[in-house]
Amino acid sequence: MSSEAITFFVMPIVMLKEIRTQMETQTSKNNVDDILYEVGIRCGSVLAQTAYDSDSLESLKKEMPDIWIEAGLGILEIVVQSDDISVRITRSSEAYVMGGNDKACHFSRGFLAGLFSETLGTNYFCEENECINQGKNACLYSLKRVDA
Ligand SMILES: [Zn+2]
Repeated sequence: MSSEAITFFVMPIVMLKEIRTQMETQTSKNNVDDILYEVGIRCGSVLAQTAYDSDSLESLKKEMPDIWIEAGLGILEIVVQSDDISVRITRSSEAYVMGGNDKACHFSRGFLAGLFSETLGTNYFCEENECINQGKNACLYSLKRVDA
């Protein structure tokens, strides 16, 4: 765990799209999806270590919606049913800026995986099951434990 303070800067969401567009000139779409997911994991993990002292699923449920809004990423709701963790995000900035008609929120799903993994002390994989870009009302994610 790092004790260094994390600093933020405000960036227009279009910067994420521009980074993606540039990476696509260098490698395949699938590789870009994977890179954005991995970068999201790192960012979510760093946030959990430095800017945020949550240590349980209950505190994540309570505190994450405000953090997500403050980060400008959308409106987030965490739903827990026994061992299943789902996340619903409406007004997803990533979906809107990426456009298209397929699942587009690879940075967000990585961010969720990193945040949950770091906070709960076990590895999670995050999948986006439905995306606003597919004509849905919200982006829906599921988090699954990865048993190493
Ligand atoms: Zn999405």
